[in-house]
Formats: sequence, structure tokens, C-alpha cells
Amino acid sequence: MSAQMNYLDGNAAAGELSRIFAIDVTAAEGQCAHCGAKKRFAEAHLYMQCPGVVARCCICEHVLLRFASVRQRVLLDLRGMTNLSLGAA
Ligand SMILES: [Zn+2]
Repeated sequence: MSAQMNYLDGNAAAGELSRIFAIDVTAAEGQCAHCGAKKRFAEAHLYMQCPGVVARCCICEHVLLRFASVRQRVLLDLRGMTNLSLGAA
């Protein structure tokens, strides 16, 4: 029996994250702070059923990123990644 997938891939965060970053973060490579896996953000498992957006590592399910809009502020928690590698223009 397989577990039902209740997440989208990281590409689904492109619209929300474009409110913060001027570049396309889904093409960036992030390193999981828990298991050390280096993966494109687009490969993350994205959960959008909560009051914000939670991206989890596609290998170990550790939380990579949390994002929420509260009133006029945007809260971004990136503690789950040791780094996020972006291509320079
Ligand atoms: Zn991981």
C-alpha cells in the first residue's frame, strides 16, 4: 500500500516566493540541514493546506522552508537549509 501524496512539488511555490525574491528560487539548489541532500528547490515536497507554505526535503521530509503572509508582513523561515545556491544573472 502506498501513502497518499498530499503535497505538490516545489514549483507550486513560484508565485508566492516571487513576492520576496527577484529571481526564480525554484531553480535554485538547496542543501537540507538534516540529511545534507543537495536538490533543486523544485524537487521539494510542498504542503499548502496549512496557513502558509511548508517545503520539505524530498529525501528525509525535514522542513526546508516555511512561508506565511500575516497582515502586511511576509514571514520566511529558511532554517531547514544550510544554504541556497542561486545562479547569478
Ligand atoms: Zn533531507
